[in-house]
Amino acid sequence: MPPSRPPFEAIKDDPDDLVFVEEAAPAAALLAADQPQPQPQPVWRVLIVDDDADVHTTTTFALGNLEMQSRPLEFLHAYSAAEARALLAREADIAVILLDVVMEEDDAGLKLARHIRETLKLADVRIILRTGQPGYAPEIEAIRDFDINDYKTKSELTRIKLYTTVTAAVRSYEQIRAIGNSRSGLDRVVRAGVALMALQGVAAFGAGVLGQVGHIIGRDADGVLCVHHPFDLDAAGASSPRPHLPRLPRLQVVAGAGAFGPLAGSALSDAARAGGPASAALAAIDGALAAGTNVFTDHGATLVFHGKGGRQFAAHIPLAAPLGDLEQRLLEVFGGTVAVGLENVELLSHLHTAAFYDQLSKLPNRTRLVEILDATLDSPARASAILSLVDLDHFAETNDALGHQFGDLLLAAVAYRLQHCGGLDLTVARIGGDIFSVLGDASVVNPAHILALFATPFSIDGQDVRVSATMGLVRLIEHDGSGADALKDADIALKRAKVQQRAGHFYFSRSMGVEIRERVRLMHALRTGFAAGQLFVAYQPQVDLVSRRPVGAEALLRWRTDDGTLVSPAVFIPIAEYSGLIIEIGEFVLRSACHELVRLRAAGHLDFTMSVNVSQVQFRHPLFLQMLRTALAETAVPPQFVELEITESMAMEEPQLLIAMLAEIKRTGVTIAIDDFGTGFSSLSYLQRLQIDRLKIDRAFVTEITHSARGSSIAEMVIQLGRNLGLTVVAEGVEDERQAHILQLLGCPMGQGFLFARPMPPAELQQWLRENTPA
Ligand code: C2E
Ligand code: CA
Ligand code: CA
Repeated sequence: MPPSRPPFEAIKDDPDDLVFVEEAAPAAALLAADQPQPQPQPVWRVLIVDDDADVHTTTTFALGNLEMQSRPLEFLHAYSAAEARALLAREADIAVILLDVVMEEDDAGLKLARHIRETLKLADVRIILRTGQPGYAPEIEAIRDFDINDYKTKSELTRIKLYTTVTAAVRSYEQIRAIGNSRSGLDRVVRAGVALMALQGVAAFGAGVLGQVGHIIGRDADGVLCVHHPFDLDAAGASSPRPHLPRLPRLQVVAGAGAFGPLAGSALSDAARAGGPASAALAAIDGALAAGTNVFTDHGATLVFHGKGGRQFAAHIPLAAPLGDLEQRLLEVFGGTVAVGLENVELLSHLHTAAFYDQLSKLPNRTRLVEILDATLDSPARASAILSLVDLDHFAETNDALGHQFGDLLLAAVAYRLQHCGGLDLTVARIGGDIFSVLGDASVVNPAHILALFATPFSIDGQDVRVSATMGLVRLIEHDGSGADALKDADIALKRAKVQQRAGHFYFSRSMGVEIRERVRLMHALRTGFAAGQLFVAYQPQVDLVSRRPVGAEALLRWRTDDGTLVSPAVFIPIAEYSGLIIEIGEFVLRSACHELVRLRAAGHLDFTMSVNVSQVQFRHPLFLQMLRTALAETAVPPQFVELEITESMAMEEPQLLIAMLAEIKRTGVTIAIDDFGTGFSSLSYLQRLQIDRLKIDRAFVTEITHSARGSSIAEMVIQLGRNLGLTVVAEGVEDERQAHILQLLGCPMGQGFLFARPMPPAELQQWLRENTPA
């Protein structure tokens, strides 16, 4: 790649906008990026190594024709690590390399850094790593070993940050060059930086800085390092302090060495009141902060480091004798390393917090909870410990109705209450949207105690909000897996508690685990079985009870597994619903039934109805209507001969939705039957508003008519009801002639059951129809 000059337009430097988030750079930048230019004056050569062409254009555009240390930048471009190697072999005097981590390989950038430092032995060039993924922290070893001067995620590199980062690198390169004759001093600086990178936590880092300063200047350094909080911040970091939170001191001592040792953690101004070295340090640091630069006097060195988010760090080292020019320069270079190191230390601790704590509630998150659980399982506390999940009921609705901000406040309030309910030995975590976990002794972590916390309303924004909760619990003493497994078990118990609404809580038991595993096994088997064509549809005829003529059939799903056993739909339909597979399977049943009806009509059975069962899950699927319309159109079946069966329990949920949905379905021309009628409690007026055509009397009531002394009660009522509403009625599960006879007397027009025919495969059905249809 030839060197390129940045575009000529001035950069509009106003917003701190995201360079790498912008869609595309202006065309001028693209054109300019490829034009070789003569080099009339000294420049800083910046090599961009990135496999994303956009990054090249946005970078040259962002850094534009800005000068750094009174020289313009010149860009070199490599689009892979291999290309960069070739380029580095022939080009010299590169000041800064902006290096992408992930290119040909996941670590191509790190390998290239190794090549630069170890094979090419280029020690001066400054390397800035850029990674695409936010949250991806390159290994600290790599930063240390390859003398990486900075790393940033691409999204973090706003135009202004990119500018300051590259400027700092250029300045550092210039200084390294300027004092290149003092290699030993420089080595000390580099080694000091390396030693610091390995330290975690701001306090350790601060102590390390003081130690390394002593090393560089070759003296035992007393000293103090402070963090400067620019505004009047409170302990939560708010700039308009809230009265109940303590104020942060303006200059807080992070680390002290020698005479300053005992000051760590305190306010420098407090220490200064006693006079002595602290008051001299306070004056010197204030002076250096005001000047914004390092200050060297005969009595001390004061260094200023710029941290993240407007925070600054400052160190003061009292000296018995003034520093030489070289020592001052070394400290300047070191200062640059420290500033980067501090940012990284802060970033790492931030990443640590983000990885283990929930931002909203400040509670441990799932990852941290699992760690704590593992530890609890390994400790004597296990004997009486309970892990519980607390799920807020109807939180989604509250959130939708009152807004997310309100929802967040509510979650924070619940977190607070849970945390303050049972003493210090309790671990409260937030493991998902509205699911909290409480881990602790059974005396505290039990449904009675915890659900009682929800008895009083929460006060949010001056409003009283009532929330109830559902719990799933696991006794850790009965658990012999990992912490993660315990959490899974608690989740299983929670799901069970939610299904059995009235209890409000459920303890996990081993048998539930077995049951769930069996369900999962069956789910996999069903999925593969369906794909392998093991599912087919059987048809059970329905007859006119008086004439015994076939009037229709119900499509019933069958599953014949590999070993030839038939699995009952009563077993696998719930699993198909649970797994969502019912959507595909249901479509398959509908299409099979429609095709079969078309064939039957071709064979002359023109007045024949095909009933198809529709599950609730299918019915609620947003594309159900569309699926129905397409299936009807593509099979070219006359819709008025297709009937959908929905269960009465389904008819009772969400009346408005159902009424609207049924109206839509009716518009396609199909008819609707209510299955298992009599088992629910549909009111007459409600039934009238549903546009249904038929009622199916549940088999239980058909069986009852010959068994109970009073005989026909419920079946009779259903038949009456059907007559009043103008609906046809089918009696299900007719097994003997007595039942058929009584039903007929009661005025039931149609029947279905083993007495007439069993469900049968299509070929048999056609045979049966030929034999049972009077000419
Ligand atoms: P259902 O809709 O009430 O179907 C009637 C069930 O009663 C069928 O059982 C049928 O074989 C059985 N049956 C019919 N006549 C008699 C009889 O005289 N005596 C007795 N004891 N039983 C009789 P099956 O086929 O095992 O289906 C069970 C349930 O599975 C169905 O109850 C239905 O809820 C569901 N199902 C079956 N196929 C499908 C389907 O394609 N989709 C959906 N969503 N559910 C289906
Ligand atoms: Ca049915
Ligand atoms: Ca039924």
